[in-house]
Amino acid sequence: MMIVMKATATEDQVQAVIERIESCGAKAHPSRGEEVTLIGAIGDREHVARLGLEGAPGVEQVVPILKSYKLASSQMREPSVLEIAGRKIGGEHFSLIAGPCTVESRDQVMTAARAVCDAGGSLFRGGAYKPRSSPYSFQGLGQEGLRLLAEAREETGLPIVTELMDARDLEPVLEVADVIQIGARNMQNYALLSEVGRSGTPTLIKRGLSSTLEELLMAAEYVLKEGNPNVILCERGIRTFETAYRFTLDITAVPMLQELTHLPVIVDPSHAPGRRSLVPALSMAAAAAGADGIIVEVHPSPEEAICDGPQQLHTDGLDEYVARLEQAAAVAGKVLSSAPA
Ligand code: PEP
Ligand code: MN
Repeated sequence: MMIVMKATATEDQVQAVIERIESCGAKAHPSRGEEVTLIGAIGDREHVARLGLEGAPGVEQVVPILKSYKLASSQMREPSVLEIAGRKIGGEHFSLIAGPCTVESRDQVMTAARAVCDAGGSLFRGGAYKPRSSPYSFQGLGQEGLRLLAEAREETGLPIVTELMDARDLEPVLEVADVIQIGARNMQNYALLSEVGRSGTPTLIKRGLSSTLEELLMAAEYVLKEGNPNVILCERGIRTFETAYRFTLDITAVPMLQELTHLPVIVDPSHAPGRRSLVPALSMAAAAAGADGIIVEVHPSPEEAICDGPQQLHTDGLDEYVARLEQAAAVAGKVLSSAPA
């Protein structure tokens, strides 16, 4: 249930409602907006209904939350703006997350991180643990990769986004990651989602290859339910009958998700096309459609990349790409999110 407080409600009245919700075993999730305070009551609906909160002092109305994802629902609160090491994600901020598909060497990571930093990137990405279709392919540098990411953060100050595939690697990943990435293949690994939820670390969830938006939102719900409010959703292309490119980027998902949820929604323009020539167009489309950011693969010499070489942008042309991206984001009323002054 959602309890909408009156604009004139006092803090004492808000607290009294919270206490009554919790007295029946439900959990209260207050969201203090500019105009009114909303209090989500998550728990047994019958119990909450029996509290008779309609008549309580300061309460405007009590409405049911009809969606199966309660905490992720846009009914729950106004659009969330997350803050990752001083960089804002969501609202009017457009985040540029860039970096190589995978961490390969110190030289590769440091060159890429410097280029992303110089081009005004918001966060740096790079996988130390890689989900590969073939068990014979390079699986990532693991802990050595994490150490190199830490070095990149140390030098450039860019917060790090890196993938966690296995809860057994949580501890070392947490030492380095400012944002934990849950990959498309793990979007429905509920034990892993709950674990990152409990860690409290901001989490970027990529849409599964064949997942519906409702399934993506339910994945977010697993993280939110553990008390971790810092979740970012990512559209990265889905499986369709089309074979001319790797995946079909579902741009419709951006405004649709923004209607359904308060969580920031970003786009990965790299994995859907699978080739570099199409990445700028999809990046601009995402920005103009109102995405809260993009996560794009860039590499100092993609021809030599161990993984996803054909789709990675050269770090060389990054300035011009970012300038165009800023224009596209401006169409949707957003500005590039940069380092705190
Ligand atoms: C990646 O970001 O490198 C990646 C493997 O992404 P996805 O899980 O979307 O395939
Ligand atoms: Mn990749």
